[in-house]
Amino acid sequence: SSATPSLPCATASRRPRFYVARAMSSHIVGYPRIGPKRELKFALESFWDGKSNVDDLQNVAANLRKSIWKHMAHAGIKYIPSNTFSYYDQMLDTTAMLGAVPSRYGWESGEIGFDVYFSMARGNASAHAMEMTKWFDTNYHYIVPELGPDVNFSYASHKAVVEFKEAKALGIDTVPVLIGPMTYLLLSKPAKGVEKSFCLLSLIDKILPVYKEVLADLKSAGARWIQFDEPILVMDLDTSQLQAFSDAYSHMESSLAGLNVLIATYFADVPAEAYKTLMSLKCVTGFGFDLVRGLETLDLIKMNFPRGKLLFAGVVDGRNIWANDLSASLKTLQTLEDIVGKEKVVVSTSCSLLHTAVDLVNEMKLDKELKSWLAFAAQKVVEVNALAKSFSGAKDEALFSSNSMRQASRRSSPRVTNAAVQQDVDAVKKSDHHRSTEVSVRLQAQQKKLNLPALPTTTIGSFPQTTDLRRIRREFKAKKISEVDYVQTIKEEYEKVIKLQEELGIDVLVHGEAERNDMVEFFGEQLSGFAFTSNGWVQSYGSRCVKPPIIYGDITRPKAMTVFWSSMAQKMTQRPMKGMLTGPVTILNWSFVRNDQPRHETCFQIALAIKDEVEDLEKAGVTVIQIDEAALREGLPLRKSEQKFYLDWAVHAFRITNSGVQDSTQIHTHMCYSNFNDIIHSIIDMDADVITIENSRSDEKLLSVFHEGVKYGAGIGPGVYDIHSPRIPSTEEIAERINKMLAVLDSKVLWVNPDCGLKTRNYSEVKSALSNMVAAAKLIRSQL
Ligand code: GLN
Ligand code: ZN
Repeated sequence: SSATPSLPCATASRRPRFYVARAMSSHIVGYPRIGPKRELKFALESFWDGKSNVDDLQNVAANLRKSIWKHMAHAGIKYIPSNTFSYYDQMLDTTAMLGAVPSRYGWESGEIGFDVYFSMARGNASAHAMEMTKWFDTNYHYIVPELGPDVNFSYASHKAVVEFKEAKALGIDTVPVLIGPMTYLLLSKPAKGVEKSFCLLSLIDKILPVYKEVLADLKSAGARWIQFDEPILVMDLDTSQLQAFSDAYSHMESSLAGLNVLIATYFADVPAEAYKTLMSLKCVTGFGFDLVRGLETLDLIKMNFPRGKLLFAGVVDGRNIWANDLSASLKTLQTLEDIVGKEKVVVSTSCSLLHTAVDLVNEMKLDKELKSWLAFAAQKVVEVNALAKSFSGAKDEALFSSNSMRQASRRSSPRVTNAAVQQDVDAVKKSDHHRSTEVSVRLQAQQKKLNLPALPTTTIGSFPQTTDLRRIRREFKAKKISEVDYVQTIKEEYEKVIKLQEELGIDVLVHGEAERNDMVEFFGEQLSGFAFTSNGWVQSYGSRCVKPPIIYGDITRPKAMTVFWSSMAQKMTQRPMKGMLTGPVTILNWSFVRNDQPRHETCFQIALAIKDEVEDLEKAGVTVIQIDEAALREGLPLRKSEQKFYLDWAVHAFRITNSGVQDSTQIHTHMCYSNFNDIIHSIIDMDADVITIENSRSDEKLLSVFHEGVKYGAGIGPGVYDIHSPRIPSTEEIAERINKMLAVLDSKVLWVNPDCGLKTRNYSEVKSALSNMVAAAKLIRSQL
């Protein structure tokens, strides 16, 4: 299908060489598409709401793409990516490109339009959406392809070539980016009805012909480069998967002839075996590596890098917001230059800039000093280019010296370093932290005080967040309403939520979190060492973005953060009221973390601050304290070899927060991500008195670890219904689930609760669902 005669790939000299020798050049892996002020988000949402039409949406998108390309071209970037824009998600774009539309959307043939595309992403009246899951260890979520032996792949979305031409028409020659076939398949799942054991890789022969058509199309549009993103290579692939990898690329050889080929990897080291496989690919012009997270890759490169190939060196971090230490990067680049030759090194970003904030120029409220330490995507583009230029004798001295001044100011700033905190952390690191007695003894002491029935009921913390509540918090922040009025409003909200729980007959209550905008921001705003941006949004999925706090300095807790609210709530009821905190690991994993000390150091600092809070709550008479570790599982490193170290310090940090409390103080924790069977021993190690876990979408899976004989002696509440859905679970259904759990868990340890907080639901849903939940608990209790 290729227009060019197929050349034997190994004949490098016959391949076109479009890059200019002599100088180092520059490349960007990918760029955020949401827009500096979330323009795409608003355009999408207004389109979905029927408030604007296709043209409006496409105009916003085209303007965003244009300004991104122009910015890169203007900065001097040589290899500018295209097709990294997406209306929703780049994996979904690939599904569209391959025509792998699940049958429930009723699509048969023709170019896939917005209708089908957004139905896959968001569902429609007759078909539910495709599943979404986390993209590696980022907070970005992709749409999971649903594949099986019956999928008829076809070239059904010409987006890649359309974008390439669009840029060309603007006078910008781009590198079209595709998700590589291996990453695509290995991140897919067998469709419903297809056996779980179905080998997704067996589809490779069916998808490659489509890839070949796309390549031919791109070539005839004038493309000279193609970038395949293959981050899957950083995972621990086995020999047969690696074999499939080389086979796939050999298979495409003839179609790749006439193109320069870049295979980009990112997010971690490429394991030695995978590196070997990669280096043996013949049709590749260049390889991209994440040299920020992948320090071992540098050693592999030193040992062996094929002559004549280009090395795309990802030295500018795509996953944080810190200005690059340019002189440190220069050193790395010099090392690489010595190995592969100057003209073979291309300065690049560690991964797509999708995972960082968009443009620092829109931050008006950050103080000047802090701002001078930062670089968002737009600034990182400039950094990449400055590094490349400095190798061709055109070093921008002013920029480099201002950069080193900023680096120095950050290193020596008293806002960053607090000797007392550093000492405390050093001390804490040296010893382990455990509660003084064993969990069974503690549970007895707690039961004496709490006097709870069997199968106690509780909820996870938040109650519905109404628009009124959001407005009140906003107005208070903007000083439009007084503190007295604010407290009064929140107090009334607590009263309402508490009364409701009492009427429903819930045993351990929550205050509902009305005073919180977000479970991390609420704490970050009260701790020192944190900063907040106005526009530092990062796409999470589709039109949804998060605005992670920036942790820039050593962390202290100037004063108690929740004691006022929690004791107020406790006074409103006779029943136990949970004090509600976010745990150190979750605060860490949902923030932009400083890069001048290891993550665990920062985590221990947060742990010490939370420990003070736990102890203050205890002193104030709060006897049940929940420390949420919603994001503990998601921080798990990609490489197996790094997981134990992470889990050890993460669990340690959690234990620091509560090892000092009395036996009779009950410590709860909560975890969102259900896929936790592989870390069950670490969870046990956390040694909480009670854990509530998201579970309702994977019952069998969670319970299977207990079937396999894992002993769990502490309280445990696997969620009995899914709070992400508006559906009301019936009493019978919940009762049945409780019974299933009782088959593997002792009735003395089982708790009954929903999956997660209720903040995204409305009151009518919450009332019905909780009332059925309590009825089910009572029913089973009576049968014990
Ligand atoms: N306590 C929080 C809530 O109920 C927990 C949220 C979460 O786990 N993501 O909203
Ligand atoms: Zn949760």
